[in-house]
Amino acid sequence: MNERIYLSSPHLGKEEIVFIKKAFSENWVAPLGPNVDGFEGDICKYTGIKNCAALTSGTSAIHLALIMLGVEEGDEVLASSFTFSATINPIVYQKANPVLIESESDTWNMSPEFLEEAINDRLNKGKKLKAIIPVHLYGMPSKIEEIKAIANEYEIPVIEDAAEALGSEYKGKKLGTFGDIGVFSFNGNKIITTSGGGALVSNNDQYVSKARFLATQARDSAAHYEHSQIGYNYRMSNVSAGIGRGQMLVLPEWIIKRRSIFESYKNELSDIDGISFLDEPNPDFFSNRWLTTILVDPAKTKGLSREDLRLACEIENIETRPLWKPMHLQPIFKDCPYYGNSLSERLFDQGLCLPSGSNMTGEQLDRVLCLIKKKLGK
Ligand SMILES: *Cc1c(COP(=O)(O)O)cnc(C)c1O
Repeated sequence: MNERIYLSSPHLGKEEIVFIKKAFSENWVAPLGPNVDGFEGDICKYTGIKNCAALTSGTSAIHLALIMLGVEEGDEVLASSFTFSATINPIVYQKANPVLIESESDTWNMSPEFLEEAINDRLNKGKKLKAIIPVHLYGMPSKIEEIKAIANEYEIPVIEDAAEALGSEYKGKKLGTFGDIGVFSFNGNKIITTSGGGALVSNNDQYVSKARFLATQARDSAAHYEHSQIGYNYRMSNVSAGIGRGQMLVLPEWIIKRRSIFESYKNELSDIDGISFLDEPNPDFFSNRWLTTILVDPAKTKGLSREDLRLACEIENIETRPLWKPMHLQPIFKDCPYYGNSLSERLFDQGLCLPSGSNMTGEQLDRVLCLIKKKLGK
């Protein structure tokens, strides 16, 4: 059996272990310490954001963001439907109601038109709209300026889910820095990892200090433990943050590698009938190319579907995955209000994520390319 080729596996540099050893030797084995402070500083410096709180996950960052924006029972939060469930779940943690917005074809991200349609309709129905969560899926920037213009017009704050888009840019500015609050994830499959972790970032210091407060059990200042609010245990470990510090040193290189993997797939496969790629719409958009995705149109491949291709890869021990199944099709969210034209249903039917890890070898890439060419008759 050939060795397994993964979709996106952790890729460590040389320094992670140095930061971890330091945590051990100085006994900073706790959810605070110099690596946590250092990692937060690294993220600020890299993205150009003013402040950052390192947390246990991207999900916890979204949850705290919603709490800080005052999202509570009965409120509505407008979010991309075409995303991972972690974008939406925290809305329900707050007993608020998700309103799902369809994507647009240029970026596969939140459609500004459907967003505005939804806002008007929900306001007409007397709903309280507390936040908008656009997602930059697979690293591709959403039309964040248009979304922000709408958000400003209706005075609704924006939480930018940049969990998949660390290092991506719009007009030369890093994603995660456009919203009132930005969110990153350092889960094991993301472009860099802390083995599990996330960050909440903002130019508003109050949001970030409040996030640190809530993430450490909301302890009021007193010698004993005094609480006037519900708290959470969401702070990142100093050991995890050590991994993160090392990963920040290699992030620029890993982005170059992921982008070159996308280019290789595109150069080798784009002349095959029935396979298409998502390009950056214009030079304002810069994707970290977290995952390379293709659409397989069976009308042009003599009937071969994305599922046929996925199974053929699996037999060869190559991991691929369908694109995210839209939230409005998920059993748990199917009754949420949805605004759109079903674009993401086609993306889900035809879309496949290809192995894209920065640690992929040329040989592994060739194996994937050969198989796809073989299956599609080239
Ligand atoms: C990974 C991911 C998250 C959640 O991050 P975790 O660190 O896994 O909790 C949120 N949104 C999107 C779009 C993601 O891909």
